[in-house]
Amino acid sequence: MIPLLINGEGITTGQVVANINPSNTADVIDEAAQADPHHVQMAIASARAAAPGWAMAGPVERHRVLAKTAQGLQERAAELGHLLAREEGKTRAEAIAEVERAAHIFAFFAGEALRLGGETGASMRPGVGVEVTPEPLGVVALITPWNYPMAIPAWKIAPALCYGNTVILKPAELVPSCAAALIDAINAAGAPAGVVNLVMGAGRVVGAALVDSPAVDGLSFTGSQATGQAIAVAAAKSLKRVQLEMGGSNPLVVLDDCDLELAVTCAVDGSFYSTGQRCTASRRLIVTDGVYSRFVERVAERVRALRVDDALKAGTEIGPVVSDEQLEQNLQALETARREGGSVRAGGERLTRATPGHYMQPALVTDTTPEMTLNREEVFGPIASVLRARDYDEALKLANDTPFGLTAGVCTQSLARSTHFKRHAQAGMVMVNLPTAGVDVHVPFGGRKASSYGPREQGEYARTFYTIMKTAYTRA
Ligand code: NAD
Repeated sequence: MIPLLINGEGITTGQVVANINPSNTADVIDEAAQADPHHVQMAIASARAAAPGWAMAGPVERHRVLAKTAQGLQERAAELGHLLAREEGKTRAEAIAEVERAAHIFAFFAGEALRLGGETGASMRPGVGVEVTPEPLGVVALITPWNYPMAIPAWKIAPALCYGNTVILKPAELVPSCAAALIDAINAAGAPAGVVNLVMGAGRVVGAALVDSPAVDGLSFTGSQATGQAIAVAAAKSLKRVQLEMGGSNPLVVLDDCDLELAVTCAVDGSFYSTGQRCTASRRLIVTDGVYSRFVERVAERVRALRVDDALKAGTEIGPVVSDEQLEQNLQALETARREGGSVRAGGERLTRATPGHYMQPALVTDTTPEMTLNREEVFGPIASVLRARDYDEALKLANDTPFGLTAGVCTQSLARSTHFKRHAQAGMVMVNLPTAGVDVHVPFGGRKASSYGPREQGEYARTFYTIMKTAYTRA
């Protein structure tokens, strides 16, 4: 059983939930202990008790724990990648890359831990000095989704620890094993008891108890927009600091002057790899008239040829959908798209494989209009819609015609167009001749509009959320 981890101790509970492999539902990976609100209060008390010590631990101690975690994750990348692929369903190669990314995140923040923050200067009053010092926020609750079960907890926990905070992680219900493995790696690296705590269970019970607690100073959430918005409202009651990363409906604009094969590869990779279950996935392919037919034909060919199978099988390009519920939602979204006038040009079928899993062929939907549900709401799966545009100006307008604003991409060989797009795309991250998904760990991550709320994650900007400034005046 995967126990809760509170104050350095594994805690089993009366209630457990089976952790099922989405590639093979006959494979029960483990059972996860479920917390009740009392366990959440214990975890908060543990993090509170550990907070003063960790806040004063100093740069060398924090660096050591973060660097050792990075090393531990890197050394175990193949083993943990196997677990991740088995639990979440992305292919083994994608899963190993995700573990390595988590290692890089810890390595980055191990370096940041050694960089002194703060400023000193003269006061406006003669004889008085001023110091501006970033201090830890305190106890932070981190609520994470299932689609990056190592990397997302890592990109919240690493900066939290780097800047001296203590942590309670509440992972998504579908991925307790990866969360527990990550917490084990941090504790094996020497984090003192209580600095990192793990509570598992339903969002509306365990997550909500963290959101409502006045003893939690900050809350960083990644997940769907509906949940994020509700959390922000609830968290405001206790005036805690909130950071939200939410959904997307990311556009990839393909212009007449693009390198066609590169644009096709960007679309197929960005829309369908990791089973399309990336918040940065390309959902809307916006293609100008001159290249439309050739582009759609080539993408459709590639979609039909994608090898969908068990995430752990050699040669699999696309793993299963994460759960049966999510698969049903994807198929339902295709049904709605058909009813509203779209054509499923390639893929979209439910698939049967040697092992019982949640398989579907990725789908390319053409003849869509901006008003269609598929282009308004996020579908979190391997489905991309195609919108036709007369020219660049119309394509840009369509790209921005969404409530979301996480990533936006453009495929073009024109410096003028790509420069214009970088300035005018209403998104937090813009890609030129690259898939909309795939980002670095050392630079800010986040979006605009309904995709994000609060300060950016990752890179040195992560400090904004995880620290609070103190201004001290001294008369000499
Ligand atoms: P979700 O919103 O259903 O759940 C996310 C987390 O919130 C889970 O841990 C869940 O248990 C918890 N939760 C649910 N209800 C809660 C409540 N009332 N109070 C507190 N916690 C609660 O999202 P999901 O299905 O796990 O993940 C998919 C979504 O995540 C997609 O919308 C995707 O776009 C988004 N996502 C965004 C980013 C990003 O950085 N912008 C990255 C990955 C995924």
